[in-house]
Amino acid sequence: MYSNLLEPSLSPRRSVSSLAEPNNRYPTEGGWVEVLVDCPGAEGLYTYAVPPHLQVRSGDIVSVPFGAQQVGGIAIQRLRQLSADRDPATMRSVEDVISHGFFPPTYWELLQRVAQYYCTPLIQVVRVALPPGLLGRSQRRIRLTAAAPFPPIREVLSPTAQQLLTLLQAQKQGDYSWHYLQRQVRSANRGLTELLQRGWVESYLEPPSVVRPRQRQAVMLAHQPSIPSLSGQQQEVLAILRRQGGEMWLQDLLQQGQVSSSVVRTLERKGCVVIRSQEVLRFDATVPVVPDQPKALTDEQAEVLATLKALTGHAQVLLHGVTGSGKTEIYLQAIAPVLQRGQSALVLVPEIGLTPQLTDRFRARFGSAVHVYHSALSDGERYDTWRQMLEGTPQVVIGTRSAVFAPLPQLGVIILDEEHDGSFKQDQPVPCYHARTVAQWRSKLVNCPLILGSATPCLESWVEAGGREAREDRKDISRLFFPSSSSSSLTSPPPSLYLSLPRRIHDRPMPPIEVVDMRRELHQGNRSIFSRSLQDALQTMRDQHQQGLLFIHRRGHSTFVSCRSCGHVMECPHCDVSLTYHQTQLGGHETLRCHYCGYGRSHPSRCPVCDAPYLKHFGSGTQRVMQELAQHFPSLRCLRFDSDTTRAKGSHRALLTRFASGEADILVGTQMLTKGIDLPQVTLVGVVAADGLLHLADFRASERAFQVLTQVAGRAGRGADPGRVILQTYSPQHPVIEAVVQQTYPLFAEAELQQRQALHYPPYGRLVAFRLSGFDAEAVQQTATALAHHLRSRLEAELSTSTSGQTPFYELLGPAPAAIVRVARRYRWQLLLKFSTHYEIGLPTLTELRSHCPAGVSLTIDVDPLRLL
Ligand code: ADP
Ligand code: ZN
Repeated sequence: MYSNLLEPSLSPRRSVSSLAEPNNRYPTEGGWVEVLVDCPGAEGLYTYAVPPHLQVRSGDIVSVPFGAQQVGGIAIQRLRQLSADRDPATMRSVEDVISHGFFPPTYWELLQRVAQYYCTPLIQVVRVALPPGLLGRSQRRIRLTAAAPFPPIREVLSPTAQQLLTLLQAQKQGDYSWHYLQRQVRSANRGLTELLQRGWVESYLEPPSVVRPRQRQAVMLAHQPSIPSLSGQQQEVLAILRRQGGEMWLQDLLQQGQVSSSVVRTLERKGCVVIRSQEVLRFDATVPVVPDQPKALTDEQAEVLATLKALTGHAQVLLHGVTGSGKTEIYLQAIAPVLQRGQSALVLVPEIGLTPQLTDRFRARFGSAVHVYHSALSDGERYDTWRQMLEGTPQVVIGTRSAVFAPLPQLGVIILDEEHDGSFKQDQPVPCYHARTVAQWRSKLVNCPLILGSATPCLESWVEAGGREAREDRKDISRLFFPSSSSSSLTSPPPSLYLSLPRRIHDRPMPPIEVVDMRRELHQGNRSIFSRSLQDALQTMRDQHQQGLLFIHRRGHSTFVSCRSCGHVMECPHCDVSLTYHQTQLGGHETLRCHYCGYGRSHPSRCPVCDAPYLKHFGSGTQRVMQELAQHFPSLRCLRFDSDTTRAKGSHRALLTRFASGEADILVGTQMLTKGIDLPQVTLVGVVAADGLLHLADFRASERAFQVLTQVAGRAGRGADPGRVILQTYSPQHPVIEAVVQQTYPLFAEAELQQRQALHYPPYGRLVAFRLSGFDAEAVQQTATALAHHLRSRLEAELSTSTSGQTPFYELLGPAPAAIVRVARRYRWQLLLKFSTHYEIGLPTLTELRSHCPAGVSLTIDVDPLRLL
């Protein structure tokens, strides 16, 4: 009776346009529609008949029968024909359209595209895109409209319709669940159709209670000619209400009038006011900010802005500006005309909690037109923001990766700030989408520009923007460059425009970077984790009342603990990793924690293997740095900024505010320091040990290390005082360190790209990772082998029938165990498919592959993985 779950395949041969109806024009004479039903026991797309009198478009919220229930669903797409194996006689029908156009026109195309490209069932994509609980357990209800005559006019209505109307009119609110009405009145459906046609009732979908719109009591002045006798208090309340324009929240009125609610209730009884429940929208609580005006742009900024403003329709722009070059100011001024045109802007940032300053700057410029949307909002907040966005008022939505699905109907521009950041890619659950990729499709579908901003663009964006060619053309990076467009299909990356800001605002110098060879420090007798250079710099900074940042790769105290007698390393019992030693202050409580699964235990006093009392801590984390600072520089005031100290909501902002107000001299932190800190008084940046970043077994390790080190260095000297950076390492000759010191992105990119090209790694090849995991080591390994076999034969068959002109290239690597095989007691294996970008490979669907996995072994497909296991 129902269709199967829609399982789109990765094959690009099934083009997106064939999935959507042109122009949203549908025949009114019935047909079929696929409906996404999202209620317990039913997940996926089901096909229903469309009754002749109904107009159903994709994006409509409909009510459909499901089993014995009536449930809410979303119309996905109309079907002109039913597949041959379906019997039209057994199909059930859509009952009603509850709400038209709940999604912007091209929205479904986008979701389909995501499902298809990332090999994920559509319902999973919908889960990511929609606020949680929007459809689940939604209830259809029927209510009277103002037009309903009272008492019912018997002559014109059938007995069932009369029965329904009487029931509704007997109820105080005139509102019942459809389920209830059906139980009370036989053949209620026919009667309802009648009432709906007359416009005497309406039907609506009530969201589940957790996300029901919040109601507040509002008080309004009633129109009335003569004021009856009122007490002084009552008159006073009316006067307040009049001064506020005749309408106030009850709570505010009580507060201002210093009266109890009985006073207002009496006024209501006397007919002077009306008290009514009103919906309020819940938004992220806004911190008031001081409004600001657009800054006078530098010539370079003005040139970039002019180019951006001249863009009409779809275009991808890489805005490559060094740290502190004024990119954010350009975003602000590029968005202003978009709002003036009545359109909206979508601004995606890596992590909202880390960028309170950025959000503040947007609020200072655009005030209440700025909305924040991310997964840390409560369900209610997300639901309200969602509905608010659909209203289509011009606004700026700032959000993290899932905000790429924000349903703004009039999108005028999409901006990805710090576009190189790995948090734009979702690890789990599926779909493992990248917000940049989705934003590329979206900007194309809605025909608006996409601006990718970064000081350290990812190599994919750099190549798309023709960065390599640009470099050959000019000595410095050209500031404006159009690469020759190669292909325009949706699967190939869109050609993009390259704009650069190679200098900081007001020609402030980039901070010089001094590399300190820690091997030499040791040879010369300095056993401290701080080189003499860094010690001197800290002292100078303190003397001059400036501030500094110390970057350290790891949180915790020490990265591992081992026995000096037998060499035993303390490991997590659930994962193949060593435990991290945690101690927040000298003499404080000592614990061991696993950074993969969260396991924790107290620190043993003796080695659990040989019982020797010689356990030693190796490697340093943020806590150790804090302790060493306290020891060597007792007068320095330090704050720790890592995921341990910022767990609570709002704690990022609180810590940054304390630091900005001068409560501390030094902020000691992990990668969080690299994001969004724009403090003019920071002059010193110290990298305690760069090495943790350099030696990771991943083809993107160098790129990531370059980005992190460049970004953290870029926090220094953003104000009037010049900055300096001290970078400590045991590998001063490492190419990444050299590129960071020279501050030459193109040189780094060129060296890295040559290696990528030789090995067919992105951006010159594409990767798809097939990840298997389970509690049974043997079962996981066997499944991986079987799956590899299956995939190989599939790909061979694909290759033999390939008609593509290019020589196809693909390689299936593995099966191989993950670098850390066991995490949280699950064993992990991986297959990696590598293929050339111009070869359109047809992948089997997730369902097909899962049929090769026994129960207990789970499979996920990660398309374009950022990290290899
Ligand atoms: P980026 O986003 O490239 O790191 P920002 O936009 O944050 O750079 O600018 C760096 C600093 O310079 C900020 O404090 C910002 O207020 C300031 N700034 C940006 N543009 C101008 C301008 N045209 N005139 C004066 N100050 C500016
Ligand atoms: Zn663990």
